[in-house]
Amino acid sequence: MSVDDAGAKPDWRNPNLGTRVRVALWLADEVGEGGRFVKQQLREAIPGVEQIDRRMRDLRPAGWSILTYRDRGGLAPGELLLEKIGKPVWEKEHRAAGLRVVTAATRRRVFERDNHRCVRCGILPGELYPDETEAAARLTIGHVEPHKYGSASGEENLVTECSRCNETAKHLASPRFSERQVWDEITELPRKDKQMLLAWLVAGKREQSRVERAMSHLWQLPGAQREEIMRRLGRSLSS
Ligand SMILES: [Zn+2]
Repeated sequence: MSVDDAGAKPDWRNPNLGTRVRVALWLADEVGEGGRFVKQQLREAIPGVEQIDRRMRDLRPAGWSILTYRDRGGLAPGELLLEKIGKPVWEKEHRAAGLRVVTAATRRRVFERDNHRCVRCGILPGELYPDETEAAARLTIGHVEPHKYGSASGEENLVTECSRCNETAKHLASPRFSERQVWDEITELPRKDKQMLLAWLVAGKREQSRVERAMSHLWQLPGAQREEIMRRLGRSLSS
């Protein structure tokens, strides 16, 4: 790095810079190592950017340590601690640090392999979550081992996940149920369901039953064809 480069740290206010770079600069210049902040401050500093927290999280694989109250006692809910500044991603040679680029072709193959459904909870794209009337599932690509930073982005390390399961796997969402609640729910299942659940847990994903597989395939048909099959199925059952 030349002396000139060292002196030319860009300004986070520059809208021509990429969002991840602006977030990094804002954190370095306005928060500083050991400083605390809330996401709202970041959103106000760099307004009009969708998924700005995602861009912030993208800094973690580049060595940035940003802790939440779940990682560190003494922080209020919603408060974040910039524990460590990582690679200077505003410098050209570090721009791509920690970014695991998944090509469009890879995404498509992973979605197809996983039958266009979340391998964790089984939800299909656009379906509503059973416990939320307004949130529709969106599919995304997750890593088999979300915590292994810098892990390869080969297809064998990628899985189709809904955004909710993706956030939960990365510990970015608070658990919705306590361990106790979940265990109680499990103990009430019939033995064969318990066995199936154990097999899913061991595999790290939910195997699709034949009926669920058929639903996944139906879901991928154009709406008119799906409706035609629905009518045909209805007739075949009523005759
Ligand atoms: Zn899911």
